[in-house]
Amino acid sequence: MTNLKRLWRRRKIFIVAFIAAVGSFVVGVTLPLNLRAIVPGAASQAQVVNPSTPLMTPHIQSAENQPSSNVNLVKQAIGDRVEFSTQAIVQLQESRFVSSIPSQFQGTTLSHAKLDSRHKAIALTFDDGPWPTTTVQILDLLKKNNIKATFFWVGIYLQTYPELGKQVAAAGHAIGNHTWNHQYIKYNEEGAASEIDRTTSLIEELTGIRTSIFRPPGGILNNGLAAYAQKKNYTVVMWSADSLDWRTATQSLMENVMRQANSGGIVLMHDGGGNRSRTVEALPDIIAQFRKEGYTFVTVPELLKMQEQDLKHQETAQK
Ligand SMILES: [Zn+2]
Repeated sequence: MTNLKRLWRRRKIFIVAFIAAVGSFVVGVTLPLNLRAIVPGAASQAQVVNPSTPLMTPHIQSAENQPSSNVNLVKQAIGDRVEFSTQAIVQLQESRFVSSIPSQFQGTTLSHAKLDSRHKAIALTFDDGPWPTTTVQILDLLKKNNIKATFFWVGIYLQTYPELGKQVAAAGHAIGNHTWNHQYIKYNEEGAASEIDRTTSLIEELTGIRTSIFRPPGGILNNGLAAYAQKKNYTVVMWSADSLDWRTATQSLMENVMRQANSGGIVLMHDGGGNRSRTVEALPDIIAQFRKEGYTFVTVPELLKMQEQDLKHQETAQK
């Protein structure tokens, strides 16, 4: 009897231990699955993480053997995919919207926006890129300061550095057309069309953005380019504050900008077309100074939308 009792007790211990082991295994398997079902995006994260962590692999395999979990995972995957597509469409629509211009400014030439006194806003613009090194340096500075700017691209440089262009657009900056070849010569209509149309097409092809702002090289308004751009309903965007960054030292670059700056202003700088290290060097101080004076940074299309809203506001106030 005592032998039998001892045997039974041993067996009981074994059964309890077995149940405990099975129980902890089941909890170990199902808990992460439940978490994955509850936490949005956790399923895709788990799939990314697990292949490199062998300890977790059995969990994944047993998950695939359970039909109900499988259904949940499939539902989750479909949900993720639908959400991803929706986001992509919204992003595409937003990127097209980034460079859209209120109709009252289409086909006009302007160098600044007229804002009412409630607003203190300024648009930083960078010409002649995309350009190796300096474009990315400027992108980093803008990102660090949470600023959206406007880039006027030269077609041949965009063709040479398409990935840089995509990077600028992906960061949410506004994009403008700055001709294909950036030359200071006279154009007939056919020549102007080629300079402007080709650049706009490449911008759209690479970024999905259909730009409607144009800046003539050298700010020349009477050589056929601006006339063609206006005819095609572009807004010809000049500037109200010239950094002269292509010829001045870092310190005077900042003084140039700040001396000419006012609300509604458009600041001309360069991220490409030559050595722009001085612009990169001066930019943090320029940003800091504007911030100190209470300016908000906007893109050129945003600046024009602000003027449009201010006008509507004034009109309703007068009524
Ligand atoms: Zn230029």
